[in-house]
Amino acid sequence: MPSSVQIQVFEKLDDYRRWRCQLPAGERETQALGFVPTMGALHEGHATLIRHARKTCRKVVVSIFVNPLQFGPNEDFSRYPRTFEQDLNLCRELGVDVVLHPPVDEIYPVPLSEMTRVAPPEQLIQRLCGLFRPGHFEGVATVVLKLFNIVQPSVAYFGEKDYQQLAVVRRMVRDLNLDVQIEGVPTVRESDGLALSSRNVYLDEQQRRLAPVLHKTITAVLNDSLTGQRSLGKCLDTGRRELGSLAGVELQYLEACDADSLEPLTQARLPMVVLVAAKFGAVRLIDNVVRRN
Ligand code: AMP
Repeated sequence: MPSSVQIQVFEKLDDYRRWRCQLPAGERETQALGFVPTMGALHEGHATLIRHARKTCRKVVVSIFVNPLQFGPNEDFSRYPRTFEQDLNLCRELGVDVVLHPPVDEIYPVPLSEMTRVAPPEQLIQRLCGLFRPGHFEGVATVVLKLFNIVQPSVAYFGEKDYQQLAVVRRMVRDLNLDVQIEGVPTVRESDGLALSSRNVYLDEQQRRLAPVLHKTITAVLNDSLTGQRSLGKCLDTGRRELGSLAGVELQYLEACDADSLEPLTQARLPMVVLVAAKFGAVRLIDNVVRRN
């Protein structure tokens, strides 16, 4: 339900802290403050996370921060879409209380190379996206920990779309005894199956037409292997061959894992997640499908 109070935008962390401090004690309890961290260029996927927060929490804070620490030197940090005014309007419509939109030097007052960083466990990050994006998950875990410390939420919402990221965050919360509840939200898709992503705007017409093949392939691997139609190994081989043969598409990985530990599976069993990453020209897309029962 949209709140009637005006949305507040904070760029300075001290301003946010002042707002946070004046909340009545009750507002700090379980489900009092919901937090949705984003990098902006908001779409229906983000909106769904925000609606979940709005439904359960008394106050909702959304951060919009393109985190330089999670981008590699050859990645798209400077090209990442930035649509702040539009994002703010959407947040307003959805009844968000606070948008935290700090400049880079508010979050990183020292050079990035001198920053203390969170090191997620190797077995969780030396695979899948982590293999193709060295340093990415350290950057994600570090900024998420900083944002949790700044925002002090009771609940934080993350999309299953970034499945390995969600696993890294859950693990950090457990291992470092963070006092925040993590809620995973199922992936929001276009009607043809393509997972919504801020990067989809970079797909040209032909790439956009082809992109739903990712969802089609991972769904086939999940269904065919779990119904026992074909072995998991065969399903993965077929999927890799098909995606690998598409012109203009560079498959990075197609894997099936235990949906909780993210350990690779050799045989289909529940809970299972099938994950894929591929580059369509310069645009890197990821997707996954998960089944728990
Ligand atoms: P980003 O702005 O890409 O960092 O994403 C912010 C949050 O939105 C992350 O928790 C993402 O997993 C989530 N998210 C992004 N795309 C989707 C989607 N299509 N469905 C659900 N959640 C999403």
